[in-house]
Amino acid sequence: MIEIKDIHKSFGNHHVLKGIDLTVEKGSVVTIIGPSGSGKTTFLRCLNLLEQPDSGAICMNNQQIDCEKPSKKDILALRKQTAMVFQQYNLFSHKTVLQNITEGLIVARKIKKNIAESIAHEQLKRVGLSDKADFYPVQLSGGQAQRVGIARALALNPDVILFDEPTAALDPELVGEVLQVMLEIAKTGVTMIVVTHEMEFAKRVSDHIIFMDEGRIVEQGPPLLLFNSAKEDRTKKFLHRVS
Ligand code: ATP
Repeated sequence: MIEIKDIHKSFGNHHVLKGIDLTVEKGSVVTIIGPSGSGKTTFLRCLNLLEQPDSGAICMNNQQIDCEKPSKKDILALRKQTAMVFQQYNLFSHKTVLQNITEGLIVARKIKKNIAESIAHEQLKRVGLSDKADFYPVQLSGGQAQRVGIARALALNPDVILFDEPTAALDPELVGEVLQVMLEIAKTGVTMIVVTHEMEFAKRVSDHIIFMDEGRIVEQGPPLLLFNSAKEDRTKKFLHRVS
């Protein structure tokens, strides 16, 4: 279980996150939706301290981290339990698909190269890209590149995968293959926190949906409840606009 308490974050005098509290059950799929600029990505990046919150706490697997002054040990522990999938894939262009996946395992996790390679092959198979191990990112479609990004995250065997708008950079015809892979991962019981504009995915796959606006969680609940009987006007307006 992850417990997030009263997270605040400002960039200069722009108060972007205004006190986020959230509990994420182990093995659940939590989707964060909301208008552009509402702080979804910033919140996600705060969860593995890629952005350092100004205040608040994150408790993951019974280990409490004070976000205001996390120790190096806290940061490493949190990063070990989380993996991130980025909107722009963030693959190393001068490394092959296989090397992109093994890099984190060898450098950060100190896993031997041959074992790292066997983990990478296993995860590439899982995302349907066994035949692309020796390709370079430039030789891949956007959908394939994102599936490599997902394989890289899976290879780290994290407790939680954070997805930051994983299909936002893709041509519409490539979105489906990435969502399909995410759907398969969701069935395996890994905790997923997903920022997305894909309302169909949110509806079909989430256990819990968070609607954020102006740096706050306005409303949250299971998909059926949120999509069919939202209570807050802001939620209703947003859902009406996007669906
Ligand atoms: P979108 O759906 O468009 O991606 P979002 O809800 O994910 O939006 P964020 O990307 O979290 O929103 O941005 C929230 C606000 O914080 C925006 O006004 C953005 O300009 C600002 N912001 C985000 N990162 C930074 C940064 N590194 N420096 C300054 N301002 C930032």
